[in-house]
Amino acid sequence: MIRLFKSVLYGRLPIVIDRESLASRVEKVQQQIAQACARAGRDPTEVTLLPVSKTFDAEAIREMTALGFRRFGENRLQEIAQKAPELSDCDIQWVVIGHVQTNKAKEVAKYAAELQSLDRMALAEALDKRLAPLNRTLKVLIQVKTSPEDTKSGLDPSDLIPFLKEISKFPTLRVEGLMTMAILSDDENAVRQCFKQLRECRDQALAAGIEGISLNRLSMGMSGDMALAIEEGSTEVRVGTAIFGKR
Ligand SMILES: *Cc1c(COP(=O)(O)O)cnc(C)c1O
Repeated sequence: MIRLFKSVLYGRLPIVIDRESLASRVEKVQQQIAQACARAGRDPTEVTLLPVSKTFDAEAIREMTALGFRRFGENRLQEIAQKAPELSDCDIQWVVIGHVQTNKAKEVAKYAAELQSLDRMALAEALDKRLAPLNRTLKVLIQVKTSPEDTKSGLDPSDLIPFLKEISKFPTLRVEGLMTMAILSDDENAVRQCFKQLRECRDQALAAGIEGISLNRLSMGMSGDMALAIEEGSTEVRVGTAIFGKR
């Protein structure tokens, strides 16, 4: 058995994962995705699985690359900076999904292939400034706040269209869609409402016909609510716990 230890970044107790359980958890998640697609009459190839590796160490990520994954969701730049050198042979595309402070734009430009949590113009400007000298572009999703919880960040839905119009002036940022986190609740309807709202935001923005941006992608759904998200049109689920275990 290959023993993989949870990252010691937070000084918590390590947990053990072996290759087989990682593969079987991934398979279980893929079955859940397929079942939700079947219920919604959707083609499962329309839904991408983004493993969220935050708090798990480079070895766990390396094991996932053996299962064919290259993109990994992380929410702290510091954690990516720590893991990236250990995985430099793995051709990994780091996807930033957490709140980014404006003073971390340089690290995003250095490490990230994609940012799913763009939620304000100051960050867009800072990113553009850092990306331009590197001669590179960054895929971005705009995070929209669909839940009333204070802990959730994101753009207010009513600000989305003006924001998209303004952001199209940055050639370094390639807008590909929207992202949201649903309310944390046992009330299925309340959760579904968040996902539905993101889809409606996308439809309204499309109807506004803004040039230079694409809104094909809707990143929504996590371990606990991915089935609902898929039923509401998700094209990408961000799954941590159901693959790597409890954090
Ligand atoms: C941690 C995290 C996830 C994954 O959550 P799980 O419940 O562990 O699947 C998804 N999206 C964001 C933005 C996260 O921070």
